Amino acid sequence: MPGVTEALEATQPEAPAEPRPFSWSVSRHDTFDSCPRRYFYSYYASVEDPEIKRLKKLSALPLWAGSLVHETIEAFLKAHDAIPSETEQQAIIHTAVHGQMLSDWKDSESGSLRFRLFEHEYQVPVEAEDKKIAVGIVMRSLRNFFRSPTLADAFASGKDRWLSVEDLVSFDVSGTEVLLRMDLAYRRRDDRVVIVDWKTGRSEGRFNETQLAGYALYAARQGWVKEPTEIETELAYLAIPRYVTRTVDGATLERAQAFIERSATRMKGLLLDPVLNLARIDDFAKHERPLRCRRCNFRRLCFPRTEDLPAFPPPEPEILPF
Ligand code: SF4
Repeated sequence: MPGVTEALEATQPEAPAEPRPFSWSVSRHDTFDSCPRRYFYSYYASVEDPEIKRLKKLSALPLWAGSLVHETIEAFLKAHDAIPSETEQQAIIHTAVHGQMLSDWKDSESGSLRFRLFEHEYQVPVEAEDKKIAVGIVMRSLRNFFRSPTLADAFASGKDRWLSVEDLVSFDVSGTEVLLRMDLAYRRRDDRVVIVDWKTGRSEGRFNETQLAGYALYAARQGWVKEPTEIETELAYLAIPRYVTRTVDGATLERAQAFIERSATRMKGLLLDPVLNLARIDDFAKHERPLRCRRCNFRRLCFPRTEDLPAFPPPEPEILPF
């Protein structure tokens, strides 16, 4: 099988990328907050440099499990309008684990450009137990998804009342384009709108609530409801399972708007040219806690010599969305 470098050399050179206007998303905010240099690599250098783009796309065991669950749920929701039989559920879970997971793993081991794990890229030993945990997350999350009150409620509301399943949308917040993708949004029979975010991590992520407040802001701007209080948000922690439901009000939307404005201002403040959205590496500092660098996709760029890195930290407790 070809190595990564050979495979990269075999691809056609890409045309120079056009400058793209600045846009904001929760993922961008999270990356910027974790390390400005990582943000630069992820959203600027990766557009120009195929190797940095490849590093950006690296997955990692827990993140991989989360992505697989999301992809399986999305495909299921788009193709079905009722909860399937137990046998069908088992078949879907079996395909996710024995089909997709297995082929991802093989691709990653062989250095594929389609899918590559951080652990393989950086030769981090993967114990059998680590694999078992990832498989367990996928199986438990999908089983709980099929049994969830959320899925039953969404189907009971009628698929014709669904507003979004993973659609990438954008809207304007104080002159900044905001991008978002809701896992599921639907209108109940009583006209209340429910916005759902599937999680495969166990703990509250740093920006989970902000993410949902941003979705609610979009829903209100789209005119999905007359009053913000008609919106309900739900964080569905499928691996546990636990469902955290919140009602929204005007103050929630104002806080979301202010958060986006502040965050976008900080990001734009580091740009060489905010109008053309041009950035320069030296303006995006490496963060001050290099312990995290061990698990960063770009660590090879910042620490060409592995021995310069601090000791391996425990994995981050929260599994971020993609
Ligand atoms: S290796 Fe560390 S400093 Fe470099 S981009 Fe990653 S997190 Fe930031």
